[in-house]
This record gives sequence, structure tokens and C-alpha cells, in this order.
Amino acid sequence: RREVYRETLGESSSASTMERLNLLQTARNFAELPLSRRTLLGLKQGGYTKMTPIQRTAIPYALAGRDLLAAARTGSGKTLAFVVPLLERLYLEGVQTQLDGLGAIILTPTRELAYQIFAVLRTVGRFHAFSAGLLIGGSRSIDEERDRLPHMNILIATPGRLLQHLDETPYFDTDHLRFLVLDEADRILDLGFARTLDAIMHQLKTSTRSRTSPGEGRQTVLFSATQTRSVRSLAILSLQDPEYIALRDQE
Ligand code: ADP
Ligand code: MG
Repeated sequence: RREVYRETLGESSSASTMERLNLLQTARNFAELPLSRRTLLGLKQGGYTKMTPIQRTAIPYALAGRDLLAAARTGSGKTLAFVVPLLERLYLEGVQTQLDGLGAIILTPTRELAYQIFAVLRTVGRFHAFSAGLLIGGSRSIDEERDRLPHMNILIATPGRLLQHLDETPYFDTDHLRFLVLDEADRILDLGFARTLDAIMHQLKTSTRSRTSPGEGRQTVLFSATQTRSVRSLAILSLQDPEYIALRDQE
């Protein structure tokens, strides 16, 4: 399984990679994908067997290390479409315990959505040893959040709070970030966070090692319910050679 990934990640534009991708895209159930046993068990215990259309389409590209712009309606299952490849990427890269540092950030527009994502991550990731935390403000003080930061492998954050930490928290180390998710990007922009996002992307660009090929440096996936012009501009700013996926509204 590791071999499949490594090769797929290493030579993204070759014909054999495309064949592998096509093969993965015929999968209907999570169990048909080349996932770690830990992730497969978590999915099974969470009651997730069959993939939804956005999961079927997006997960193979994301597993192959590609950046993504994926649009699919609300309720189509976008959370698992990024949670599964995120877990696999960190696991394969050896980011596995509290000592391994920050591997992934999931940016989402609201606290409520952050809690929902956290719940999915706990279910599907329960057989992994990752630590995950929320940076969403609210009842928790910025100091409390700051003290926990060095122990987190995965952060789920709202834009304002993430930028505040990037600006103010000393030793907030994003140098080895492997996976960035922009969830519900259209709503992030609708809520007036365009400039905050720009600032975040700028900060991450200067700190995180840039990518020379898929599977290296930071992979970024952007999910949205709608495709607007501002979502596309955000994609141009934040994604590298992305795969574009747009499902019809029924899917
Ligand atoms: P979106 O982000 O696209 O609005 P969510 O990721 O929040 O959608 O998922 C919507 C609902 O569908 C959730 O209740 C989730 O548990 C359920 N769901 C997602 N994927 C699957 C699946 N593969 N099998 C069964 N239920 C799923
Ligand atoms: Mg969602």
C-alpha cells in the first residue's frame, strides 16, 4: 500500500499514475481504497461504508497528493472527503504523536462547524495517535489555546483566531505543515474573512516549505458548496496546480 502511494506521489503526471488514479476512482466503498487499517477501522466503527459522490471523486486525487478545488452542495459529505486523506497523509509522513509537531490545519468559517469536524475527526481518527485541537476562541482564552498549541498535530480553526495566533503566538511552528484544508470556503468569504484569509495564506507561504512536486511540502485542498468568482480567486492564490471538481447539485 505504501508503495502505491509513494509512486503515485512521486510521478504525478506520468501515464501510470493516471491509470492508478482511474483505478482508485472506480472504488465505491472506503474499503476498496488503499487506506491504513487504522483509518479503515475508524470509518467502519463510524458506520461509514459507501462513499458519497464527492468522496469518490475527491479522495483519490487527494491521496495522490494533489491540491484540490472541490465544489459540492451542502450535505454531500465534504468533511470525510478531506478528513480521510488528511489522516492518511499525516500517518504516512510519520506525524503520529504529540512530539511530531503540527501537521495539518483545517480552516472553517464557524465554531459550530469546527466542533462538527472535530467530532468526525475523533470518530474516524480514533485508532490513530494524533492529537487534535480547536482554535476557535469562545469560552477558551487565547492563553489556554496557546499553551496547548505545541502539542497539537491537527488544528481546527476559525480564520480570525488562527491569524491572531500566527501573529502573536511565539514559536507557533507551521514550518512542517503537510496538509491545509479550506472548508466551506464560500462561507468564509461571505462572512467577510477575505482579507484575513489573504493574511493567513501569506503567513503560511513565507513559513512553510514550498512544494516542488505533489506529495512534498504542503498540500492544500479547498472545499466549497458553491463556485463563485471569489472562491476561484482564493483558489488561484492558495492552490498549486489544482484538480478542479464540481458536482451537480443533486450529487
Ligand atoms: P457537507 O460538508 O458537504 O455539507 P457533511 O460532511 O457535513 O456534508 O456530511 C453531511 C452528512 O452526511 C453528515 O451527517 C455525515 O455524517 C453524512 N455522511 C457523510 N459521508 C457519509 C458516508 N460516506 N456514508 C454515510 N453518511 C455520510
Ligand atoms: Mg461541510
